[in-house]
Amino acid sequence: MNVFWHQRDLRLPDNRGLTVATNDGPTVGVYVVDSNVLGSVGKRQRAFLLAGVRALKQAYRDRGSDLLVRSGPAVDALADICADLDAETVYYNTHYRPSRRNRQRRVDTRLDTERVSDLTLVDPARLDPGHETHSQFKRAWTDLPILPALDAPDDNLADVTDATTVPDVEADIDLPEAGYEAARARLDSFVADGIESYSATRDDMTAAVERPANSVSRMSPYLATGMIGIRETYGAATSAHDAADGRTRKQVDKYRDELSWREYNYYLLYHEPTLLTDNYVDFPNDIAWREDDDGFEAWKRGETGYPLVDAGMRQLAREGYMHNRTRQVTASFLTKHLLVDWRKGARWFTKQLLDHDPASNYGGWQWVASTGTDSVDVRIFDPVSQMAKYDDDAVYVTEYVPELAGVDPETIIEWPNLSRGERESLAPDYAHPIVDRNEGYERAQRVFETALGKR
Ligand SMILES: Cc1cc2nc3c(=O)[nH]c(=O)nc-3n(C[C@H](O)[C@H](O)[C@H](O)COP(=O)(O)OP(=O)(O)OC[C@H]3O[C@@H](n4cnc5c(N)ncnc54)[C@H](O)[C@@H]3O)c2cc1C
Repeated sequence: MNVFWHQRDLRLPDNRGLTVATNDGPTVGVYVVDSNVLGSVGKRQRAFLLAGVRALKQAYRDRGSDLLVRSGPAVDALADICADLDAETVYYNTHYRPSRRNRQRRVDTRLDTERVSDLTLVDPARLDPGHETHSQFKRAWTDLPILPALDAPDDNLADVTDATTVPDVEADIDLPEAGYEAARARLDSFVADGIESYSATRDDMTAAVERPANSVSRMSPYLATGMIGIRETYGAATSAHDAADGRTRKQVDKYRDELSWREYNYYLLYHEPTLLTDNYVDFPNDIAWREDDDGFEAWKRGETGYPLVDAGMRQLAREGYMHNRTRQVTASFLTKHLLVDWRKGARWFTKQLLDHDPASNYGGWQWVASTGTDSVDVRIFDPVSQMAKYDDDAVYVTEYVPELAGVDPETIIEWPNLSRGERESLAPDYAHPIVDRNEGYERAQRVFETALGKR
């Protein structure tokens, strides 16, 4: 008998480790509820993950087997199961988060294990370290083969039953349906209506409100929790790509390019586990981060007086999701205009996001904060021109900042530049800017150039 240990791979199809285990012999699936692991993410994602474990348990039962659910630490729970079932080998898919690597190491030390690469399309160990930009990485990554998705195993899921119930956690927001079937339905729906115009719609903030699950895929909660496999997702995009022609192919290819950013972030994390804690770039001088508790709290609440920033933060609060454009604008506002350390922002996102993914969250924050792999030395997103470019009709802003409903969109764009009196007469309930637009910009430029030794 083999044991397969599920971590962030809450599915049967396209699960390489599970297939390797079942090819080797009868296999029992296990999920270990470890409060240390679950405590490292926010309540929303915790609730979603556990709903995914319930769906996985049902999927095992539908195949005449069951998922054993035990309480952690994983090493003890797995050792007990191996002893009870006289199991020889524990198979699992490797995860690259440092705390998980430590946990995996403890299991490797005590039990006979076999680790399988599954989390990414290309095993990051196969790529040399040192690709410092996404485009350099992508050239090397593209040269390596991508394995096809595998079906769920037909045979060799062990004939076991398990009466343990999966703990229930209540979230403060509505959650999407969890589990593989829901993830696959989301993917199919996006491939049928969305992927062929993805490049054009992915930054369109009107579409983000009016067609939220067609203008972008909203696959992130499922990919982050492993309710669907990355090969299956990429494979569906590749089929759509190959079936299209000309310009449509480019639209679809942009989607595959975005998936390669996920690959890149895992590559960075694999080779540099301190991506989650330390500046990726070595600065000759310290960055003079500011202690600005009031600013940080106003940012969290979506009350900075910068409409696009506030809309993004309120989308996060309301949905546990934020559009990629506003993730960039809100992260830049915090780390540049307010000069608050990126680690504080990343921790807040970790707590709030349903799709929190350690590599993409911390990689994304570092990229925006200019402490990561951006090829531009100091990039500062101007929240006013970003709104003018991407939300000029204020559809996204007024969806999340109702205090501004009825105000002319051009005036909303210029909100931080209006006089206090004008703002008070137009929308008395909405915040005044907490930092001057130009002063914030110039201060960030100064601080980063000093850190880089350019001043
Ligand atoms: C500060 C910051 C924090 C972020 N935190 C996370 C996070 O915790 N979890 C997360 O999955 N993504 C994160 N991202 C990346 C990106 O914003 C989200 O993946 C995307 O918005 C999810 O929505 P979607 O599934 O509709 O994306 P789509 O546009 O439909 O993209 C499809 C998939 O491609 C991947 N992807 C797209 N863009 C990126 C990117 N820039 N980096 C890495 N992967 C990408 C994701 O897996 C995504 O689900 C972050 C970006 C920034 C700037």
